[in-house]
Amino acid sequence: MASVELKDIRKQYGALEVIHGVSLSIEDGEFIALVGPSGCGKSTLLRMIAGLEDISGGDVVIGNEIVNQLTPRERNIAMVFQSYALYPHMTVAENIGFNLRISGQPKSVIDERVGEAARMLDLTALLDRKPGQLSGGQRQRVAMGRAVVRNPAVFLFDEPLSNLDAKLRVQMRSEIKTLHQKVQTTSVYVTHDQIEAMTLADRIVVLNKGRIEQIGTPMELYRNPANLFVAAFIGSPA
Ligand code: ADP
Ligand code: MG
Repeated sequence: MASVELKDIRKQYGALEVIHGVSLSIEDGEFIALVGPSGCGKSTLLRMIAGLEDISGGDVVIGNEIVNQLTPRERNIAMVFQSYALYPHMTVAENIGFNLRISGQPKSVIDERVGEAARMLDLTALLDRKPGQLSGGQRQRVAMGRAVVRNPAVFLFDEPLSNLDAKLRVQMRSEIKTLHQKVQTTSVYVTHDQIEAMTLADRIVVLNKGRIEQIGTPMELYRNPANLFVAAFIGSPA
């Protein structure tokens, strides 16, 4: 686990600034939902935490270390996207173990960690299958398994359930929460689904046009939305 701190983070694409000085302290072990309308900068912010996107200003601090110059791999972060990006020619076990294999871990370690992740995600019976032989939910669990085996200090999710049907989304939602608790990680979860945010998060961050409108527990946001934008987004009567 690790704390994550954003200090006056900015992002410019050419002359256009899309993240305007965002500051946020995430505690060790916390589950944060990052919500806001399409185009408000959720993915950009997540990618800057992950190191997949240069920052134009400010600092990203993970644990006690400023990580601005570190590669994604060096940050000990795992990211789960909505597109599962599994390797179709590899088995489930090979997909889950892929990152360990390319980082040169011995086979005994890989087998043990893959077995552990598979048990955690209920994939043990499916380890020899190829992605083409799996359901959407099972594929998403394999993608999470691939992240879990690396024992990341921080888990970043970018709308991981948006390709799934409503019923499966509800089921996977609780699996993600369980996973967060089992792995004992810090999670930042991007979604445009208020219900997902309300049920999963310790605190919700509401982003609008590259700025934070409000940060609070689901109940705080529901009872005391800071403005009409937050009220409309959370669906409370204010
Ligand atoms: P969200 O994930 O909340 O939908 P994004 O972070 O993807 O929003 O995008 C935030 C803003 O940055 C949008 O206006 C988008 O058009 C812009 N943007 C994202 N990526 C790029 C890029 N590579 N080049 C230029 N503009 C970008
Ligand atoms: Mg996005």
